[in-house]
Amino acid sequence: MRETLVLNASFEPLSTVSLRRAVVLVMQDKAVVEQAHPGLRIRAADVEVPVPQVIRLSRFVRVPFRQRAPWSRRGVLVRDRHRCAYCGRRATTVDHVQPKSRGGGDTWLNTVAACAEDNQRKADRTPEQAGMRLLVRPFEPTPADALLLALGVRERANLPEWLALPA
Ligand SMILES: [Zn+2]
Repeated sequence: MRETLVLNASFEPLSTVSLRRAVVLVMQDKAVVEQAHPGLRIRAADVEVPVPQVIRLSRFVRVPFRQRAPWSRRGVLVRDRHRCAYCGRRATTVDHVQPKSRGGGDTWLNTVAACAEDNQRKADRTPEQAGMRLLVRPFEPTPADALLLALGVRERANLPEWLALPA
């Protein structure tokens, strides 16, 4: 996968993101293309987009990109794409895998998105005690993920289905 360099509004290099994510940032007006692959364009229907090598954020953001992404409930939901870790349906709540009452903390590795029903069913128990299985393993977002979380970018948003990106 081709990587695109992301600059802060101040031109300071922040991170690299996948080409798909770079195009999403540009299409959501969160970034502008600073440098594009000469002659290479993504074409589909009546839309033509330059293939970005370097993009620059429209607004200056202050995020510890090179460090760990700060944990937040919203961040967990975005990381898990609003899918319940136990059943795969739409999630609106955040579950502590190891319950807080048993010492589980507000960390990326201890929290997953969960639907309200499963969160209620699991209650104050570990998945084993509740007889529930995690479909996905919680993970710590990469610096690129942290950037997208900070910008509030939803991976699929505003990216038309037909927009086929070169690998
Ligand atoms: Zn569920």
